[in-house]
Amino acid sequence: MKSNIYDIAIIGGGPGGIGTAIEAVIHGVKNILLIEKSDNHSNTIRKYYKDNKRVDRDWKGQIIELEGNVEFVGGTKESTLDYFNTLLDEERIDTAFNSEVESIIRTQEEGEDIYLITTSTQSFKSKSVVIAIGKMGKPNKPLYKIPASLKDYINFNLDKCTKNEKILVVGGGNSAAEYAYDLAVNNEVTLVYRKDKFTRLNPENEKILREFNGQELLRLRLNTDIESLENFEGRIKVNFNDGYFTIYDRIIYAIGGTSPVDFLKKCGIEVNSEGNPIYDEHYRTNLPCMYVAGDIAFNTGGSIVAALNHGYHIVNSFLRRRGKIYSYTNKVEEYFKNNPKEKC
Ligand SMILES: Cc1cc2nc3c(=O)[nH]c(=O)nc-3n(C[C@H](O)[C@H](O)[C@H](O)COP(=O)(O)OP(=O)(O)OC[C@H]3O[C@@H](n4cnc5c(N)ncnc54)[C@H](O)[C@@H]3O)c2cc1C
Repeated sequence: MKSNIYDIAIIGGGPGGIGTAIEAVIHGVKNILLIEKSDNHSNTIRKYYKDNKRVDRDWKGQIIELEGNVEFVGGTKESTLDYFNTLLDEERIDTAFNSEVESIIRTQEEGEDIYLITTSTQSFKSKSVVIAIGKMGKPNKPLYKIPASLKDYINFNLDKCTKNEKILVVGGGNSAAEYAYDLAVNNEVTLVYRKDKFTRLNPENEKILREFNGQELLRLRLNTDIESLENFEGRIKVNFNDGYFTIYDRIIYAIGGTSPVDFLKKCGIEVNSEGNPIYDEHYRTNLPCMYVAGDIAFNTGGSIVAALNHGYHIVNSFLRRRGKIYSYTNKVEEYFKNNPKEKC
């Protein structure tokens, strides 16, 4: 890491994230971090496009002018990935792969707003954040069958939770811990985790969990897995692998993955009634220096070109706020040819 605090951290390494990162380089932003949950950039393209798929520049008939510095003419799945590979060779962008961002918390350091970005294994600090996680994210589901008659009582977030229920939270990460101790204030809560100790919790969450457990405000059931679920008179009978069962009113799974709207809400970003983020003409959300780019900013389908344009506008807005306005007209390849890489 070049600096303790990044100037711009980009969550998601798809076209929106890559476009933002390259615009930031071209506009002279110094400390840039790109965080991607999978082991390589452009997970949506790799996972959902068929091999040799034609990639249309004007996707679904959307004719959008490219406004920024990153060219995109379309091609195939493979040529598109190759092109993004080349862009990300740029050494002024720090990358963190295999790093799913779990939370982004606004905090203050020496009188300045800073975001603390936490993945399952590490934390980063940044002055600004661009969320470009796309719309394909889904919460992970268990491998055993969930009886259809119980679906209303099985959740992947806190939306349907009320009070005075007997709740089982499943998982060993920070989301599971936070759900468990939040719910424990008004409910009878057990947190079940398949391992015998927590390895991915931040110290604060681990401390709160231990305190709640010590005061019997919630119960920790470690080293235990769930084998199956059954409908027991309209409640959920959970059969554990230690041979015991317990009846619950509700189960909350927090076993990785999240829907985009849950992610935004968790970060404190305001969303409208359709679950889309609210942002201004610079893609800035209700939080200072927190932006959204790419598909996540659209009600329905975006496109690669639209995502690249977002990056351009966001970086301009970001620099304008810092009193630095650059107006490069050269396109990205020309820029890199004429500007040998400087050390930041
Ligand atoms: C089958 C299919 C075909 C398409 N064909 C075309 C086409 O021909 N032309 C075109 O212009 N558009 C096409 N699109 C649309 C285009 O792919 C999207 O508009 C574009 O990928 C949006 O880019 P994005 O960066 O917003 O999101 P995405 O491409 O979805 O990238 C989001 C990235 O964020 C990562 N991520 C998610 N959550 C986290 C997290 N918590 N922490 C860290 N990283 C995270 C993901 O792994 C992913 O790499 C197609 C879409 C699909 C599904």
